[in-house]
Amino acid sequence: MVFAAHPDDDVIGCGGSLAKYANGSSITVVYMTSGGAGSLTYSKEKLAKIREEEARKASDVLKIKDLVFLRNPDGYLQYSQDNLVRLINLIRQKQPNTIYTHSSNDTHADHRITNQLVTQAVFRAAGPWFQETKGKPWRTDTVLAYEIWAPLPAVHYSEDITQFMDKKLEALRQHKSQIRDIRYDEWVEGLNRYRGGATGVGKYVEAFEVVKISRI
Ligand SMILES: [Zn+2]
Repeated sequence: MVFAAHPDDDVIGCGGSLAKYANGSSITVVYMTSGGAGSLTYSKEKLAKIREEEARKASDVLKIKDLVFLRNPDGYLQYSQDNLVRLINLIRQKQPNTIYTHSSNDTHADHRITNQLVTQAVFRAAGPWFQETKGKPWRTDTVLAYEIWAPLPAVHYSEDITQFMDKKLEALRQHKSQIRDIRYDEWVEGLNRYRGGATGVGKYVEAFEVVKISRI
């Protein structure tokens, strides 16, 4: 299960890992916002629609079918009871073994709030508390935080995505409204190549912080 503040964060942060595990695993991607603020050309509503469609195309490339759009306002994501309850309910409904999300060290406010919501929702989803939530308690074993624009200060876990780098870039290039002006697919390739060299695990590597691990 993946929690992303915006459509494309999922691909940038862990698209290679998702391509690697998509066969045989069921994956759900939850988008906290639909990224409506990412353009001065389109209205927020129009851009949000375009970006949801781009997210569907990118997920098709990665063979992921289950997408959830929570449609919070882009740039103004709140740590709120509503959002927390929605995340707790989703975690209990989908029962993930592993969750990928943003790092608390990220420089973007929506990314950091997503991290806070997800880490708190994982904790609360595991217990029989909070009468306003639904579903049976569910304990997620592993929570990994991915890197977007700011490289993680400490890497605890790395995934060799060498064989899936082409798929990751193909998925990323479905986000046409975003890479038209800034070729960040090239930055992402550079970051994953750097992680490959730095860790020695493979040519292209995705790096993660371990937020929580219960079983090894
Ligand atoms: Zn983002």
